Amino acid sequence: MDNILQVENLRKVYGNLEALKGVSFEVKKGEIFALIGPNGAGKTTTLRIVATLLTPSDGKVTFMGKDLRKNPDFVRENISYLPEEAGAYKNMKGIDYLKFMATFYANNQMELEEFLNRAKEISGLEDRLKDKVGTYSKGMTRKLLLARALMTKPTLAILDEPTSGLDVINALEIREIIRAYVKEGTSVLLSSHNMLEIEFLSDRVALIDKGKILEIGRPEELKEKHNVKNLEEVFRRVVQ
Ligand code: ATP
Repeated sequence: MDNILQVENLRKVYGNLEALKGVSFEVKKGEIFALIGPNGAGKTTTLRIVATLLTPSDGKVTFMGKDLRKNPDFVRENISYLPEEAGAYKNMKGIDYLKFMATFYANNQMELEEFLNRAKEISGLEDRLKDKVGTYSKGMTRKLLLARALMTKPTLAILDEPTSGLDVINALEIREIIRAYVKEGTSVLLSSHNMLEIEFLSDRVALIDKGKILEIGRPEELKEKHNVKNLEEVFRRVVQ
């Protein structure tokens, strides 16, 4: 099976607002696929629907050949979701947070240890894991959450704005972690409004604006098609 994820004609209405107006794309096995677009484009809404955290108004999502609506548990077991904002858990020590999360996924003690060891390695936080999450910087918190999202080697990792608000070094580290884990077999669906950085990370991108996909392709392909130097310029062209 080539496609891990197939999203077809997804629509989402919030009251009077049509946030998604028929979004379609697929994520292939072992690929990093990015949804990029400005604030309010519909990225988080799309990601949350795929992660089963939000119900679509219409459309179909197929994950590993199974319909998301009919198999939400299967989807939840095989994907992980990194939210844009770090939620609660500020009073927990980093290591306790990872243990707590690992217990939801591990089937036995051995697997639990395996998940924890992988999470420690991914986070790179070492001794700071003994400190409370509330004392972490933004970059450290993001690494902890990313470690949680990747420790189970999910088939698909959904990462909402994984590097937003981080400095250059931390953003670079996060991108390297993501790249390394895709090599281990996880596919990635991520979102970003930073079109320049995503160009270096993603195999394919979808440009989204006002709930509609405007273009899909490899960054090189899109730049060539529009005869421009970067994705920001591609975006400007297609919006115009
Ligand atoms: P950002 O980059 O700012 O996170 P985004 O591309 O992720 O933006 P979404 O969060 O998916 O965009 O929002 C798409 C649209 O839907 C926006 O107009 C937003 O205001 C609206 N929206 C999102 N969630 C809700 C909600 N719970 N109720 C009403 N409107 C919502």
